Parts: sequence; C-alpha cells; structure tokens
Amino acid sequence: MGKVLFIRQENYDQEGIDSAILRAFENFGGVRNFISKGDRVLLKVNLVSGHDVERRVTTDPSIVRSAAKIVIESGGTPFIADSPGIDGFKGAAEKAGFMNIAREFGIECHELTDPVDLPVNDGADFRRIQVSRYVLEADKVINLAKLKTHAQMYLTMGVKNLFGCVPGRLKAGWHYNVGLSREKFASLLLDIYLGVRPSFTILDGVIGMHKEGPTSGDPYNFGIIGACVDALSMDFALCRMLGGKLEDYPLYMAAKKRNLPQCESFASEVEGDIDSSHVFPNVELPKTRSMRLLPHVPFLERLMTSKPVHIPEKCIGCGRCAEICPADALRHENRRLYFDYGKCIRCYCCHEMCPVKAIKVKDSLLLKLVNMIS
Ligand code: SF4
Ligand code: SF4
Repeated sequence: MGKVLFIRQENYDQEGIDSAILRAFENFGGVRNFISKGDRVLLKVNLVSGHDVERRVTTDPSIVRSAAKIVIESGGTPFIADSPGIDGFKGAAEKAGFMNIAREFGIECHELTDPVDLPVNDGADFRRIQVSRYVLEADKVINLAKLKTHAQMYLTMGVKNLFGCVPGRLKAGWHYNVGLSREKFASLLLDIYLGVRPSFTILDGVIGMHKEGPTSGDPYNFGIIGACVDALSMDFALCRMLGGKLEDYPLYMAAKKRNLPQCESFASEVEGDIDSSHVFPNVELPKTRSMRLLPHVPFLERLMTSKPVHIPEKCIGCGRCAEICPADALRHENRRLYFDYGKCIRCYCCHEMCPVKAIKVKDSLLLKLVNMIS
C-alpha cells in the first residue's frame, strides 16, 4: 500500500510549488527511486476539456512545470499528454498552459491516441480495455491529477485521472457500455488504474473544485498537494477529509467488493502537514446515494438518480452536449435541448462538456426525499 503525503501549499507561486514537489519525491526516497536516466516519462495531466487556468478544471501548469523540470534533471525525457473528452488537444493544452511548458523545455505535448489492449490483472472485471499506446510505451507514468468533485463519480482524484488514458471517443463508448451503474464504471476505473499502475501520483489540491465538478463547479482553496505511490489510499482518505461518506463513493464500493486492503488501511497511511482526521469545511459534494440504496432496477435507478436539465438563458447553442452524449438521448435545436430521459444513462457527459454551465444536475423529488431521511 504505502503512505500518502499531504503538503500544505496555499498558492501556485512557482518557487513554492517547486519545493513542495521536490519535498514530495524526497519523502518517498528521492526522485531517483522513480526515474532512471533515459526513461521516457508520461506526465498524465488532467485535460478533460479546454478551460482557462483560472477555472481550476485542469492540472495547474506550475505543477506540470515542476514535474517536467525534476524529470529532466534526473536524466529522463518527460512528455505531457492526455485525451480530452471533446476539444481538440492543441487548443485545450494551449489554454491550460501545457503547450508553453512544452516550448519552454523543448518537450512533446500531445494527445493520447492509438488504442492498444491494456494488460489487465487477474481480478479485473473487464477483460478488454484499450488505452493509448503512448501510456504502455512510456517507461514511467507520473500521474498529475486534480482534486475535484464529479457529478457522476462523486470525486475525481488520483484513480479517476487515469480514465484519460482511454483515447477519444472510446471513453463515451465505456459510458454507454456500463449504462446507469456507477459501481460498474468505478470497477472499470479500478481496472484501468491497476493496469496502468502509475509510478507516482501528485495531486493538485491547491485550488480544486467543489459543487458541480468536474468542470462546472466552483473553485475551492484546499491548500494541499497530495503525493503517493498508491492513489487508492489517497482518494479514500480525501473522501472522508472532504466530509464525504465512503459508502457514497462508487470507487470505494467497487474496491470493497474486491476486498482491496486499502479500504481498511487508508487512514493510517496519511502523513505530512495534515492528518486523516482533518476535515475541509463546507465542501459541497454531489449526491450519489441512489447507488447504495437501490437494487439494480433500471427504472428505479433512473427515478432515483439526478438528471441533467437545461438552463436555456445560459446556452450559446454550440451543440457540444448532443455531440458527446453516448446514449443518443439528447437533441439540440435552436438553443433548446430535448432530453430523452428514458434513454439517458446519467453519465453527465453533457454537463461536463458544456462550456458555459448551461446544463445542471437536478435531483428528482424521490432522491431528495431519500437524502433527507437517510
Ligand atoms: S443526456 Fe447527458 S447525462 Fe444523459 S446520457 Fe446523454 S450525456 Fe449522459
Ligand atoms: S447546453 Fe451547453 S453544450 Fe449544449 S448547446 Fe447549450 S451551451 Fe452548448
């Protein structure tokens, strides 16, 4: 398992970030424990879609710059990569500040394309998962994740960040395949994480996101950088530190079903400037409780699961929501959206990809009632 380190870091001042990232590596035996001379190192950022840095959707460039510098100084060759959900890679990476870093250091920054089969572990739920060949061809993967809430999966941190290793529209295909089941999707995330096995994870929790994450929420100054070899323990510890319930966290429930030891040990692994009893105040988390309260009956699950609704006055008519919908449950016409809620699998990809927060996630009456009494 291994420890989880939390370092206090209140802002993105480059000097402060550099010393925090260095401290993170040193705490785990030094960067040479992870990077050897000549290694080609994937810096797997969070570039879910194209957003200005101030929206706090993507991994902050100061953290990516720091990691790139450390890898170069250790004799490795870093490259920055991800697979955005919908936007062209270059434009999104430019907005997020990653292309500038690539130019500064003369390194590559490109999309994770070219799917190949990921070798999966014995206990995997899904036997055939395809990830970008760049992930498998890299000698090391450094996972540069972002701390955010996630309307469908409750939270996105170290483990969920690896879903971006699945190239382009194959991601939407997975949403469609697992349908309404968050636990199945969480199980897929586990398989990807355990298959890719990043060497080291650094979590950007300096300013993360709460409320309607991962793209439409509000920034929240958590003031931390997380570091670990095993991101499962870190994600579970943070769930509680954010005021969440582990039973509401699909990733935890999927791990528990597999009897993964991190489900029991995570709290004792936390070290650094804050311990596992720390609770960040007033964090607003999504409501995912339908999953644990109901048997898998699609009709009931639909009634009990929050649904996407349109806010027409904010809509700019770009059509991205309809384009990304994996279930073909959404039609867009003259700045009006028509949802087919019978087909909708509540993946919230439309909500995630809307550039102007014109889709919100709304609880059903039944779900509100259950949340009140549970
Ligand atoms: S309408 Fe939105 S939430 Fe429903 S399936 Fe399509 S993208 Fe997912
Ligand atoms: S709801 Fe958002 S994504 Fe959909 S058309 Fe309007 S602005 Fe575009």
